[in-house]
Amino acid sequence: MTTKEAIYDAQALADFSNLEDDVGSFRARYPDFAPEAWWTGGAFSITIGQPVENPTSTPLWKAEQRKLRDAWQKKFPLDACVQLIVSGAKVSELDQAIHRATEAAFKMDNADALEFLHQQAFPEPRVWRFQRAIMLLYMEPWRAVFCMACGKRFAKDTKGRLYCSTECFDPRRSKAKREWWKKHGKKWRAERGKNKSSKSRTR
Ligand SMILES: [Zn+2]
Repeated sequence: MTTKEAIYDAQALADFSNLEDDVGSFRARYPDFAPEAWWTGGAFSITIGQPVENPTSTPLWKAEQRKLRDAWQKKFPLDACVQLIVSGAKVSELDQAIHRATEAAFKMDNADALEFLHQQAFPEPRVWRFQRAIMLLYMEPWRAVFCMACGKRFAKDTKGRLYCSTECFDPRRSKAKREWWKKHGKKWRAERGKNKSSKSRTR
């Protein structure tokens, strides 16, 4: 894998961490980002001692996103990285096993289906883009930052980068810079004017 691809993955991870509810367009943009069940499955939280008729369900991706946001804030500590990667692998295994079993079950009678189930081993989990990205950010945590202008998470491609996009870099469009200019712009231009004229006088 090239560095360029690795950074693309890391940026996909940043986009996922910023995702609010527009899952459709994110999935269209990064189809191999995470297993199908991330988007369709729910993470149930059940309180012990309470009846379970109405367990509260959060979409799986939101539960994973919460863990990811926390890891991002903490600059990708090892344990958080391992947990994120492993929970993705578990979902992936389960996903593949269910697909395979459902497909096979349609073609079998009962005896064959039982025989099939006996022979099942867990498939090797696929490696997803988000897992590669977590590995990269574990090794190079300086890439995981927040944009100086809009505050969104983004993955740095070079060390000096401070903004997530050209929109945020452009001083006329970035809020932080605009405010700086409002406060100090006049003085800055005056100072620069002075320096220029003093330079030209000495020549
Ligand atoms: Zn930004």
